[in-house]
Amino acid sequence: MEGSGGGGGADPGPASASASGGEGEGFEGLWELPVELCERRPVCGRCSRPQKVCLCPFLPVHPLKVSTCLYIIQHPAEESRVLRTVPLLAACLPPDKCKILVGRRFNEDRYPELATVCRNPNTLILYPGAEATNLEEVAVMSSSPSVMIIIDGTWSQAKDIFYKNSLFRLPKQWAPPYRV
Ligand SMILES: [Zn+2]
Repeated sequence: MEGSGGGGGADPGPASASASGGEGEGFEGLWELPVELCERRPVCGRCSRPQKVCLCPFLPVHPLKVSTCLYIIQHPAEESRVLRTVPLLAACLPPDKCKILVGRRFNEDRYPELATVCRNPNTLILYPGAEATNLEEVAVMSSSPSVMIIIDGTWSQAKDIFYKNSLFRLPKQWAPPYRV
């Protein structure tokens, strides 16, 4: 920002940036950062977290006994996050009670099993839409749901998945007692 003809609009370009002395050199230094920073850190095979922050010692030794089966519909961007929570959940449940489907679009042809689940009247989907039942009321209902569908992603990703896949609007919707 030191002066010479800083008038609006002109793109200084790389040449003038490096000509501005000290700051330019600072940027060049960035290219010399150690390569190790970019290498993959060792990841725990159970909880999928970097080994330094593995949470397995805090997880139950044996899978929890649950009657409800969870279907996690995971946005692809969520799968690549380092500190993601779904693997923790999966590590606590028997494999047949926690199914993870990654994607944005789910139709009956490609996911016939999911379609069957969505048509089951005992299936619930976690989605805080206008028609959602409060979780506290769901808990009062006599039998526990056989399947619960959860969309894993940011709010806008979850909204996109929910509204662009008609299958997910078949099950009864429920929401946590607190609304965002
Ligand atoms: Zn672990």
